[in-house]
Amino acid sequence: MNAEIVAIGSELLTPYFQDTNSLFLTEKLNEIGIEVAFKTLVGDNRRNLTQAAQTALGRAEIVVFMGGLGPTEDDLTRECVAEALGRELNRDPELIAALYKMFAERRRRMSPNNEKQAEVIEDAVILKNNFGTAPGQWLEAEYENRQRYIMLLPGPPYELKPIFEEQCLPRLRKHVPEMFLARRQLRIAMMAESECDARVSPIYKAAEGVDTTILATGGEIQLHMRARADTKEIAESRVEELAAKIEDELGDYVYSRGEPLEDVVGLLLQLKNSTLAVAESCTGGMLGSRLTQFSGSSRYFLGGAIVYSNELKTLFANVPPPLIEQHGAVSKEVAEALAVGVREECQATYGLAITGVAGPTGGTPEKPVGLVYHAVSDELGTEVVERRFPGDRERIRRFATQQALDMLRRKLINS
Ligand code: AMP
Ligand code: MG
Repeated sequence: MNAEIVAIGSELLTPYFQDTNSLFLTEKLNEIGIEVAFKTLVGDNRRNLTQAAQTALGRAEIVVFMGGLGPTEDDLTRECVAEALGRELNRDPELIAALYKMFAERRRRMSPNNEKQAEVIEDAVILKNNFGTAPGQWLEAEYENRQRYIMLLPGPPYELKPIFEEQCLPRLRKHVPEMFLARRQLRIAMMAESECDARVSPIYKAAEGVDTTILATGGEIQLHMRARADTKEIAESRVEELAAKIEDELGDYVYSRGEPLEDVVGLLLQLKNSTLAVAESCTGGMLGSRLTQFSGSSRYFLGGAIVYSNELKTLFANVPPPLIEQHGAVSKEVAEALAVGVREECQATYGLAITGVAGPTGGTPEKPVGLVYHAVSDELGTEVVERRFPGDRERIRRFATQQALDMLRRKLINS
């Protein structure tokens, strides 16, 4: 079955406010096998809202309206949905009494406009709201001779979530054929999205009953797989089979089934009983920050230095000044010396170093913006990788930390 989510509120059409409720609703609907086919955002405007309601009711079997259930003039959802359905709106005396009682308990006088929240669409079931004044509504109705399941929910997330989970989902389940959803995620480091897709799309396109989406951000690709089936076992086996095939194709480019790269590196360091120290120039601490996101990182991460100036490269990581003069701070040689120096200074198993031009200023023809050297060092030797990253300063810095962490990951799995 298909659903449409209609989020109501003029604030949602400004640059300042996000519709987050629909993400929650989509997740919950997907779990019981309902696809969200449309999402609509509409302001607090009578004509537009009625039109949005008519459109949604015309094209989706399940329609969730949220927001616009308050007591003020611009809260129009009840009226507009009733209008779209051609149904009456009635004030429920019990709800009115309950509203007065709730205000009295809070020692507040209720202004009469609050009574508006007691308006119920003909034949709707009232959904009790334990965390606010506006109740929700559930309605089974025909629209243009087709069966529709309709919900009206309050906008505040802490009101909407319990009402939906406790009162809407059980009702929906009665009408939706039982379906199970299984998910898998694969994370891939330092591979171009186009290359990755060229290699894996023949595999996932051939996989029956699994939806795959590919998502790329700085130095990382996430493959999300979802399967729906009559039994949990079938859904699980479908995503598992596809994930295994993709892992076979991509080999050690796949670094996890969901955990971030810094987590994987931390786990490997612990497994190998190893420690790490870092020397960062252009990433200014981003590497250390990523490595210390998780409690317990002190077991393997010793620390390091932000060696932005040439002087500190020498002071904290023993880089000889003539080496910097000869090759420049952004060079293969200095990256290597930083990794070795910080490892020795900190007495760590591994030293990891980054030096580069993050831009947007400071680039030259030989050393353009985006040029970064990464080095990983252990007692057996040091490896350096030169990369030229595209994008703005933040992206280049993110790419650089991703590359450095991935080099260490590869070293750890191969050692
Ligand atoms: P309303 O029911 O329209 O009075 O909405 C009340 C409040 O709920 C708004 O001011 C928002 O803080 C929140 N809200 C409404 N719609 C959404 C939404 N789609 N996602 C997240 N929060 C929302
Ligand atoms: Mg509103």
